[in-house]
Amino acid sequence: MADKEVDLVVLGGGSGGYAAALRAAELGKSVVLIEKDRVGGTCLHRGCIPTKALLHAGEIADGARESATFGVNATFEGIDMAGVNKYKDGVIGKNWKGLQGLIKARGIETVEGEGRLVGPKTVQVGGDGGDRYTGANVVLATGSYSRSLPGLDLDGHRVITSEHALGLDHVPETAIVLGGGVIGCEFASAWTSFGTKVTIVEALPHLVPLEDEANSKLLERAFRRRKIDFKLGKRFEKVETSDSGVTVHLEGGETLEAELLLVAVGRGPVSEGLGYEEQGVRIERGFVVTDEFLRTSVDGVYAVGDLISINSEPHLQLAHVGFAEGILAAEHIAGQPVVPIDYAGVPRITYSQPEVASVGLTEAAAVEKHGQDNVTTVTYDLSGNGRSAILNTKGAVKLVAEKDGPVLGIHIVGDRVGELIAEAQLIYNWEALPGEVAQLIHPHPTQSEAIGEAHLLLAGKPLHVHD
Ligand SMILES: Cc1cc2nc3c(=O)[nH]c(=O)nc-3n(C[C@H](O)[C@H](O)[C@H](O)COP(=O)(O)OP(=O)(O)OC[C@H]3O[C@@H](n4cnc5c(N)ncnc54)[C@H](O)[C@@H]3O)c2cc1C
Repeated sequence: MADKEVDLVVLGGGSGGYAAALRAAELGKSVVLIEKDRVGGTCLHRGCIPTKALLHAGEIADGARESATFGVNATFEGIDMAGVNKYKDGVIGKNWKGLQGLIKARGIETVEGEGRLVGPKTVQVGGDGGDRYTGANVVLATGSYSRSLPGLDLDGHRVITSEHALGLDHVPETAIVLGGGVIGCEFASAWTSFGTKVTIVEALPHLVPLEDEANSKLLERAFRRRKIDFKLGKRFEKVETSDSGVTVHLEGGETLEAELLLVAVGRGPVSEGLGYEEQGVRIERGFVVTDEFLRTSVDGVYAVGDLISINSEPHLQLAHVGFAEGILAAEHIAGQPVVPIDYAGVPRITYSQPEVASVGLTEAAAVEKHGQDNVTTVTYDLSGNGRSAILNTKGAVKLVAEKDGPVLGIHIVGDRVGELIAEAQLIYNWEALPGEVAQLIHPHPTQSEAIGEAHLLLAGKPLHVHD
């Protein structure tokens, strides 16, 4: 057993943890980063990157199927899952190598192994007798795991999580996706492109239920066109598995059958058995509670990413949130002036086909905050956008604004619109007035023009809009 003292110990090398480590090292701190698996965490190895690679492969498949629409002679002959996985793993491998190089170049010591908090600021790696690392500060960043429901056993074969789904060596013929949130809709979309017959079961009244209802409805319409079935407002009761597949029972007596069931009902915090509570770190429902500067209840101990709940509120579990929190925690530790994150200003994307992208408040949230009489909305249909017509995609840009005031929310649906949300977040976060955005000239023909057109409409001078 060896003891080592450094400025900062980071437990967990995912998006939040490695961002904290990189920024602290940049600020001159000595840093140890402890990771039990692979740096990059869920996002790089089991989340953002592999799912987007599957979705892109699906887009290519759809392109081949629909090639005649564009006058191109091509035939879709099927999915070679080994080939898809090779492509996906190649993307992960390249990014992983790059990240390892970056961490090393910043002089961060990476320790491989499972860490546990054994003192308020001491992490022991590898169980009793293992090496101990004590930091002047500690950042907890142990992330999250795929949750299940009571009585729903994940066997990794018929009843699977997103981790298992990313490792499948074949395209399932049929699948039931439990949960119509971001992860459920992304798999439903990719598998449909691969040729799977998918049914989504969602307990709430809409798909992507955290989005503005208009976005949910547009996605539902598009999924209907793609022959993706979904059961909304339906609660799961139980599942039976057999050699050939699963039978899912819904409350009310309906049953569904498929080759497998993907459970996508949310992600829980990885905090159990890690010594957090024993060392006085406040935990609620498994989440580490922090303030807006990411400080836990123990002096000098911070927490970031999927693991946390800020001031006991639900928290966006996104990689870019983890990055931002890692940077904020490192800067706060280094005594730099920092501004708490405005979580409403974080862009959110569901990378299904079509994509759903948003930033700011939904109409319902804006009305709750500002009152019905003070909120106005406009919707610009992508049918008026040349580039969207070229791409053969449908959707809309919806703006929510304060009457005679700034834009409060931007909600977009359509192929590739995830890329548009970067501009939308500037508009929201700079509290831009519709008239100011209407002044900005968007390049033609791009989908970004739809943002410009929506603001022209909101400013009372619509251009490509039919009455
Ligand atoms: C299928 C899927 C798709 C997703 N797609 C997107 C997307 O498109 N965009 C987006 O923004 N977000 C996406 N996410 C969410 C994103 O992956 C997470 O928000 C992000 O990874 C959280 O980062 P984190 O650092 O908090 O945790 P994690 O990335 O989970 O990292 C935690 C790390 O801690 C390590 N660890 C845990 N316990 C210990 C221990 N005791 N000792 C040592 N190491 C430990 C783990 O091995 C892991 O590497 C997706 C998630 C999933 C599951």
